[in-house]
Amino acid sequence: MSGDKRLATAKEIRESLQADCTNCFGLCCTALNIIASSDFAINKASGIPCPNLKSDYRCQIHSSLRENGFKGCTVFDCLGAGQKVSQDTFNGIDWRENPEVGEKMFRVFPIMEQLYEMIAYIAEALSYKVSHTLTVKLNLQLVQLESLTRLDADALLLLDINTYRLPVNELLLESSKYIRNELILKFFGAKNTRKHDFRGIDWIGKKLKGKDLRATDLRGAYLIAADLQNTDLRGVDFIGADLRDADLSGANLSTSMFLTQMQINSAKGDKETILPSYLKRPSHWTD
Ligand code: SF4
Repeated sequence: MSGDKRLATAKEIRESLQADCTNCFGLCCTALNIIASSDFAINKASGIPCPNLKSDYRCQIHSSLRENGFKGCTVFDCLGAGQKVSQDTFNGIDWRENPEVGEKMFRVFPIMEQLYEMIAYIAEALSYKVSHTLTVKLNLQLVQLESLTRLDADALLLLDINTYRLPVNELLLESSKYIRNELILKFFGAKNTRKHDFRGIDWIGKKLKGKDLRATDLRGAYLIAADLQNTDLRGVDFIGADLRDADLSGANLSTSMFLTQMQINSAKGDKETILPSYLKRPSHWTD
């Protein structure tokens, strides 16, 4: 496969990872444990359907989740793991009509969710121009993860997800370093003296309005309620960063790396915020 074709395919894979609630048996509303907080109005144990889940698996307060204290539901994104488990792993067997499959389906869902999350990151890494060695390693990981998603329910339940997370994490670190080094050279030149490594930093509530943060490593950074209005965030690695209530109004995230829909859904923004092509503008963002 030519380099350009490979990049296009990886981008397509990343963009295809979208939740389709119409083909899911309300798994996020049933399988997951919910703890009452500012994000959720109720406590709910895993395996128990949320009282707002209708018999057709639609949410009866879908249009007013935030007003009803269910902000967390507007943030969650399964990347398509829900429909995969419902339609492929369990062949479209509805747990309401066949309660005997429910318990197993609810345990498989979080496993599939984690596999999909890793696939999204690896596919994204592959959509950048990285070294040949990295490309080969990323491709091998992608093939392995995709094959795991095709396992049957019993085999999925036996997986030790951490043994897959570790090599994926190392590969993503290596990819991020490679991509950002190229960008630092492009943006700031060979004599660059700026600091770009702010991994895990506590910038809760920090005023960063208008800053140039291009190609910064913000992996695992605490950016809760940070003022990131009009910041240049191109080439920033956001893996695992906490963006809850961070203000991204007017910010440029067009080529930010490893940013997820959940991170964006948890932040604030507006119509001037520029997002990567695979992410949707949240409906609760201001115009
Ligand atoms: S409030 Fe609606 S979206 Fe949230 S868990 Fe309940 S049914 Fe699902």
